[in-house]
Amino acid sequence: MSINQTETPSLWRETAIAAPILEKLNGEITADVTIIGAGFTGLRAALELAQQGTSVAVLDSHEPGWGASGRNGGQVNPMAHELPENIIKHMGDTFGPRMVQSYANSANELFELIKKHDLQCHATQNGWLRGGHTRHSIKHIEEMAKAWAANGLDLTIVEGTELHKLVGSKAYNLASKVSSGGSVQPLSYARELCRAAQEKGAKIFSHSKVNSLERKGNNWQVQTDFGKINSEWVLFCTNAYSDTTLKGLKQSISPVVSVQAATRPLTDEEYEQILPQNNTLSDNRRVVFYTRKEENKRLVFGSIGVSQFCNGSDQQRLQRGLHKVFPQLSAKDIEFYWGGKLAVTPDALPHLHEPAKGILTGLGYNGRGVAMATLMGRVLAARVSGTAPNDLDIPTTSYGSFKLRPFHGIGFPAMVKYYEARDSLDERFSK
Ligand SMILES: Cc1cc2nc3c(=O)[nH]c(=O)nc-3n(C[C@H](O)[C@H](O)[C@H](O)COP(=O)(O)OP(=O)(O)OC[C@H]3O[C@@H](n4cnc5c(N)ncnc54)[C@H](O)[C@@H]3O)c2cc1C
Repeated sequence: MSINQTETPSLWRETAIAAPILEKLNGEITADVTIIGAGFTGLRAALELAQQGTSVAVLDSHEPGWGASGRNGGQVNPMAHELPENIIKHMGDTFGPRMVQSYANSANELFELIKKHDLQCHATQNGWLRGGHTRHSIKHIEEMAKAWAANGLDLTIVEGTELHKLVGSKAYNLASKVSSGGSVQPLSYARELCRAAQEKGAKIFSHSKVNSLERKGNNWQVQTDFGKINSEWVLFCTNAYSDTTLKGLKQSISPVVSVQAATRPLTDEEYEQILPQNNTLSDNRRVVFYTRKEENKRLVFGSIGVSQFCNGSDQQRLQRGLHKVFPQLSAKDIEFYWGGKLAVTPDALPHLHEPAKGILTGLGYNGRGVAMATLMGRVLAARVSGTAPNDLDIPTTSYGSFKLRPFHGIGFPAMVKYYEARDSLDERFSK
């Protein structure tokens, strides 16, 4: 399938519910809150605020779900990358336990939201498998499973033949299974959040890139090519697509590329054999593999990439990965490739900032944004509605800077190669 570099060709674009018909911002308006970025973070915040009767305007430089929210694996995976005790040590006794609980509850929060607003996005809550394939990776998965189960996550261990049946291959020897995990069609989910927010009164504008932010009396004014909005609050929900409109935001995260492939529809026999219980599956390789089936019987398979357009070496990595995890499939079975950018933070946890009165930002989900961006949108809305920073689920911090910014330019492809090489060494010597 050819790749159009301006749009975002993906399986999700082919199969999503219709895009909402939206207009550009034209002229000058006033709202209580302006939200920049119509992904999961911005749209969830808009929905929460609009249903409380707050007037909200959302601006996206493209359209709802254009960023990572419409391109991701759609995996709803409710566990951080760190052990709960390390999160608590890092964040302290107030926010540490809240952050751990936020992760542990994040999948249920998302599926309840979908149910409440009847969002049509093929939501499936059948559980998330995280597989280990080497001694090291299994040890890590067991350690994480024990610690997260002790902190309230609905988690069990599956191994051996039982796991091989659940995966549909012998690629992993042991896995944790979180039963609240699951999947969505991500672009449909974003478009449905948009519909629900509009129905509650939010005004949503597409093709309206914010070029500047300025203080005007008691309000902030954001400006696009054709319009202006004046509001008391401005929420930056731009994640890995953050630009320089808000000083320091772009430097607080590192944008990382993730890429995906989707196969032809599986045959009935393959469909019954591969992930027969419709679980999502990921692993803990440094260059991670993650996969799930979707409603048209295709298998979606993802990894880290170097180009958000999923060019040559990324396609080859996906082909190798797919065949490694599912030897019954190979390059010839792949029909779609695409990619996008997610945001990584120095501590691998999401960040909330309030750099000036009336300005909020929520970003940095480190690959767990389907659930955690949905949660962050609620937290941002709570802050706007008067909850004090100390009473939020996520701490308000000042910008950290990604001093190394290791994932950039020529450094990033080299880093992916290096981590792939270490993964291969682990596979050879730590079986
Ligand atoms: C390929 C891929 C696979 C992934 N897989 C998973 C997964 O399976 N599970 C998981 O949990 N997470 C996954 N993620 C991460 C997840 O998708 C993100 O964390 C999440 O979607 C972030 O949502 P967001 O709303 O904060 O940002 P985004 O969805 O990226 O939205 C940001 C929006 O801001 C807009 N914007 C930026 N600047 C401006 C401006 N100046 N003016 C107006 N608009 C602006 C952009 O147009 C964009 O639409 C994946 C990410 C990628 C790229």
